[in-house]
Amino acid sequence: MAAALLPRLEAARWWLAPPTGTPHLRVPCPAVGCGWAEKHAERTRVAFSGQQATVSAVCLHHGPYESVIRPDGGGYLDLSTLYRNVVKELTTQLSPDTLSVMVKGADWMSGTQLVNGALLAAGLTQGQIPARIFGPQIVTLTGAKLSKSLIRANQAEPLADEDAWMLDTRKWPGSADAYAARLLHANTVLLSHPRHFFRDYSTEEFARLMDTKTRSYSAT
Ligand SMILES: [Zn+2]
Repeated sequence: MAAALLPRLEAARWWLAPPTGTPHLRVPCPAVGCGWAEKHAERTRVAFSGQQATVSAVCLHHGPYESVIRPDGGGYLDLSTLYRNVVKELTTQLSPDTLSVMVKGADWMSGTQLVNGALLAAGLTQGQIPARIFGPQIVTLTGAKLSKSLIRANQAEPLADEDAWMLDTRKWPGSADAYAARLLHANTVLLSHPRHFFRDYSTEEFARLMDTKTRSYSAT
């Protein structure tokens, strides 16, 4: 599907990479132990031949290399998150008789406008765009998405010790049975009405929902 999108790239490229108009498409250097790939695809070129795309790039250590991508497989193709999501949603066209529903986090709501633009540019009609459901997002006190990877990379404030279980279930203070029961209860509440589901929750509120903050709340 990535190869199917490539011929329409000229029409879709500003949707796929709004800041630069150059969608990030990377193939890693095949030299043993290298795996180098261009961050901004400056020297990456794509050539088509029927259903096959040959992606060539230049490694600073090992020189030029290429990777052949076919509809049934081929080399490893690394796409930016936006690009990857467009390809993922395009694959739903492979089975048009199946009702495809994309389930995503609410942090993707704005990004979806770009996905829609790219899908229309790639030739889909509005009616072919798959249905989507957005799950609630857990946000920190600053309003940022609670992100395990950003916290690990020291780019976001770590969680308070008492809330560490939100990112690492092994740190749940009680039994596994209690955790499962409360998680089930919290999800039952969220799914009981659209107004509970289509919104975000702070870590504080999510802890309350999971009943770990009941005591402090009842005291105030
Ligand atoms: Zn290399």
